[in-house]
Amino acid sequence: MGHVAEAFDQERIDRLPGASAIGHVRYSTAGEVSIREAQPFLVTCQHGQIAVCHNGNLPFAPEARRKLESEGAIFSATSDTEVVLHGVARSRRPSVREAIPDVLRDTEGAFSMLFLTPSELIAIRDPRGFRPLALGRLADAWVVASETCAFDLIDAQYVRDVEPGEMIIIDEEGLRSSHPLVPQKHSMCLFEHVYFARPDSLIYGQSVNESRHHMGKRLAIEQPADADIVVPVPDSGTAAAIGYSSQSKISFRFGLVRNHYVGRTFIEPRQSIRSFGVRIKLNPVRDLIQGKRVVLIDDSIIRGTTSKKIVRMVREAGAKEIHLRVSCPPTISPCYYGIDTPNKADLIAAQMSVEEIRKFIEADSLGYLSLQGMIEATGISLDSSCVACWNEKYPTRITHEAKTMWEREHEAVSLGDAS
Ligand code: SF4
Repeated sequence: MGHVAEAFDQERIDRLPGASAIGHVRYSTAGEVSIREAQPFLVTCQHGQIAVCHNGNLPFAPEARRKLESEGAIFSATSDTEVVLHGVARSRRPSVREAIPDVLRDTEGAFSMLFLTPSELIAIRDPRGFRPLALGRLADAWVVASETCAFDLIDAQYVRDVEPGEMIIIDEEGLRSSHPLVPQKHSMCLFEHVYFARPDSLIYGQSVNESRHHMGKRLAIEQPADADIVVPVPDSGTAAAIGYSSQSKISFRFGLVRNHYVGRTFIEPRQSIRSFGVRIKLNPVRDLIQGKRVVLIDDSIIRGTTSKKIVRMVREAGAKEIHLRVSCPPTISPCYYGIDTPNKADLIAAQMSVEEIRKFIEADSLGYLSLQGMIEATGISLDSSCVACWNEKYPTRITHEAKTMWEREHEAVSLGDAS
């Protein structure tokens, strides 16, 4: 448990034997937060040893799990990934590489997965391609990662994305690619470009930094403001703020400084911690802000409580006016595919109009980027994208039962929302 650098030091890594490895930084969207949920999961079954890492979420896994449990299956963790592992272990196919597509063929939802056995590494991405997965080369080795910035750290070269629906097998004979899953219309998550991915990554082959820059430029055209300085909410608002500034010719200033030694607010589990978190994570630069009309650029407004605190903080630092501009449309619906947005009841834009939100966060004006503007800024077509958290058009079926289970799992967050 904890940050990677704290959980793994060089000495521990040096003790790991073998020539192949998988690792996982868990961002929990399903299941408990406990060491039992830490991936990779490792099992021994009729196919031998299998380890698995999963990026994404399977909205129907709780239903499948209940069915398996009623048939006597035993689970050691609560996450959705173990359901797939059970399927692979129970499959009558003769090998892991045949069992995996056999199980995932009928699995709806988001999965970019890595399976490791003693003799092979298997990478597979769901046919809609919800979550990214990239393939790279490090000398004569292959590497696979969710984000290409991981390759930069180890001096590996980005080769290409693992395609939606593609399975790649890497073993002593080299790399083989196949497309064993039923093709679907692509639904690549655009929230990766808005907020989630690092700006130094290529996601779906496109630069995240460029996308955010274009979103900012487009935002300046769609939602202009009469102001003296453009200030980003760091770090994910920075590229959009530079874009806004270059388009509007209003000078860009780092009026908020982020403390890099604490995690991202959005990910923390309890509202009380989140509220406190804003204060220790951001600090206004008074000299820059005092007496100024400020355009504040943020990447999204989820619950509204963070934005409200930031607006207050900037106001207390002496800003004359605060115009909040958001580089995506209002977030009105939860994500069932691996991004931990809260229940609809906790999404401020699902409950309030833009003007009501403006009043709530105490800004002088508030403007969002349009859906069309956001899509065009990424250069990815609407036809290949998932934008369900902004338009509620989910690419897969989401049953009432799946929704109810999701809401129950996320209730803890709502109950903690005292502020
Ligand atoms: S619902 Fe939103 S966050 Fe989830 S996959 Fe779709 S675009 Fe991404």
